[in-house]
Amino acid sequence: MTMKVSRRGFLQVGGFAFTVAMILPRVAFAARNSLRSIRTGIQPGGKTRLVIESSARPSYSLSYPENQLVVDIANMSADSSVKPTLASGTLVSAITQTQSDDHLKIVATLRKPIAKLEKSQIMLLEPNGDNDYRLVLDFSATAAQKIAESVKSAETKAPPKKHVVIIDAGHGGKDPGCIGKGGTREKDVVLSVAKRLRTKLDEAGFKTYMTRTNDTYLKLAQRAEFAETHKGDLFISLHANANPSRSVKGFSIYTLSEKASDEEAKKLAESENAADKIGVDGFTEFEKEIRAALSSLQQHAVAEMSEEYANGCARAFRANKVEAQPGPSVRHAPFAVLRSTVPGALIELGHLSNSTEEKLLKNADHQNRLVAAIVRSIKNYNFDV
Ligand SMILES: [Zn+2]
Repeated sequence: MTMKVSRRGFLQVGGFAFTVAMILPRVAFAARNSLRSIRTGIQPGGKTRLVIESSARPSYSLSYPENQLVVDIANMSADSSVKPTLASGTLVSAITQTQSDDHLKIVATLRKPIAKLEKSQIMLLEPNGDNDYRLVLDFSATAAQKIAESVKSAETKAPPKKHVVIIDAGHGGKDPGCIGKGGTREKDVVLSVAKRLRTKLDEAGFKTYMTRTNDTYLKLAQRAEFAETHKGDLFISLHANANPSRSVKGFSIYTLSEKASDEEAKKLAESENAADKIGVDGFTEFEKEIRAALSSLQQHAVAEMSEEYANGCARAFRANKVEAQPGPSVRHAPFAVLRSTVPGALIELGHLSNSTEEKLLKNADHQNRLVAAIVRSIKNYNFDV
């Protein structure tokens, strides 16, 4: 049984979520959370941003009474010395604090109605520099129709939305990827694993989309764009590796960063990006648009979620007895295919340059073992912010 406190402040026990307060006796809250500041601001595009800063990671829930946004934070007391700083031109006209048992309700009065916030509108930032923990909420006014739907779906407790996993089989068509000594092509291995993965994820109740289902060539930016347009919650790019040293074996997992974590990761990104002749610093127009639309805070949130997934994925591979490449299991490099707003990772399933692993990568049992590890990592991933 697993227990963890999610970023939304729920204690998850074996897949069921309860609010922390329901499970833990009051006495467990020895260290109280203190309110530090409340402020609003305007974001690009006219969005309102509400920031609540606290001394500890807040355990919170949101509710939407008429023309209000209420942030309920557990284990916190009202503090009249904290005066909200309200920027002009936002949707928030006033903010008050109300104590309710051990919870502080921060009530923002809104000039116009808003819809229920989606996870992409909510960020929880770790302390840095002069800042403590910050709960950051971005929102704008919504048409009446959409609000009615949003309230209705909350009331009828519709079954939770299926999480969308984008499965990207690397390479394809004119781009074979790397080729083993025995002639095994990366593009064929990863497509086979991708299809097996789709079957297992569909069975497990996820909604899946594959960037390619046959031997076709796709540009890297098209794959990232596919993840955006299909509203992916998680992006999994499947690859197999080659190393000049034929003795090197094992899996490794990569997330996006503009700076490579090591020389090997940098070289790998260069070779994976070579399919599109994109240099490590190259950006396509699509990527530029995506990046312009993303605030640095959102980029931070996507990077954080990708990192969390990648670490969990590495654990699942080890738990399923898949051999790891020596060195860190999770590395970072500027992979073009990962440049989107969808959190995700690029998985190098093993080395085609190693003859033992080339045989394994073609083997159905081994492919199923790899798939089982990936499914495990996705089931363990905390999709809800
Ligand atoms: Zn590849």
